[in-house]
Amino acid sequence: MTNEQIDLRSDTITRPVPEMRQVMANAEVGDDVFGDDPTITKLEAATAEILGKEAAVYVPSGTMANQLAVRCHTQPGDEILLDANAHIIWYEAGAPAALSGASCRVIQGTRGIFTVDQFLEALRPANIHMASTRLVALENTHNRGGGSVWPLDQLTDVCLAAREKNIVSHLDGARLWNASIATGIPESDYAKHADSVSVCFSKGLGAPVGSVLAGSSIFIDRARHFRKQFGGGMRQAGIIAAGALYALRHHRDRLKEDHDNARKLGLGLAEVPGINIDSDSVVTNLVYFDVEHMTATEMVLKLAQSGVLVIATGPSTIRAVTSLEVDSKDIDKVISKIGKIASEMNE
Ligand SMILES: *Cc1c(COP(=O)(O)O)cnc(C)c1O
Repeated sequence: MTNEQIDLRSDTITRPVPEMRQVMANAEVGDDVFGDDPTITKLEAATAEILGKEAAVYVPSGTMANQLAVRCHTQPGDEILLDANAHIIWYEAGAPAALSGASCRVIQGTRGIFTVDQFLEALRPANIHMASTRLVALENTHNRGGGSVWPLDQLTDVCLAAREKNIVSHLDGARLWNASIATGIPESDYAKHADSVSVCFSKGLGAPVGSVLAGSSIFIDRARHFRKQFGGGMRQAGIIAAGALYALRHHRDRLKEDHDNARKLGLGLAEVPGINIDSDSVVTNLVYFDVEHMTATEMVLKLAQSGVLVIATGPSTIRAVTSLEVDSKDIDKVISKIGKIASEMNE
């Protein structure tokens, strides 16, 4: 990547800052499969505490965190209920079926968020013809939902209604940090009634590797077994966990800058002829917009030629993500470059 490039493809592109690299280089390590890595143990305890859960386990990716939850919570033939745009359905390579033998049934939420009534309507009577609905998965913030944030009451209602129906709940909180920064509501409040929760360190927080799955001690013991089975047992991984721990301590508050930059981008794009965006929809660090008079792929290519990287997520839809790799001046440049390309197409 050249210096002139502005990379808005994802917040996963964030590279470790020098101070982070320093603590990684100096991290105390041990064999984590034996439970001997003090840095990983510290990261797991610190994350569990923030989330208000008994225990946590460090894993290489958010996908593994979610899929360990699916594996622990379901048996082959069970069914998971989740929003039609869930990351678990779109971006985890069919893992519920491949790794757990579970099927997914979708609820058509709004921006990834559904109501307790929609959840209850999706339930079916106990009947030998039907798959057992065992798990409901929620995502906060919602990736394909545009970085949307669940209203706390609504999320709590779904989790409590699920428990009443003997259905467990999993919160995919890859960007839960962003939800908390946007609303001021602590992560532990969102996680409170979910049986398990996953969080990611390698997105906006800027660590190079890793996610954590948190829940009860019994649940996490089981997750450790399946982590080994899935090939996620790591040895002196305190080297990378140290980056995550640094991110947890130093990079959560600065997510506000990313949100401010995203908002600025949303407001700027709303003024560009040929671009459709509801700037009120930008509440965290994800900006989704639609192009007219050209395809999203054409816009992506033209932008790449001018040094701005974004991704197409639909025929006319583009996603731009702010992170610690971009600043407010970059946003000005991006708005003017998109404006230029859109006006050339309008001619
Ligand atoms: C990024 C993301 C994940 C995890 O992705 P990995 O690339 O496997 O780390 C999970 N859920 C959501 C909502 C995400 O945005």
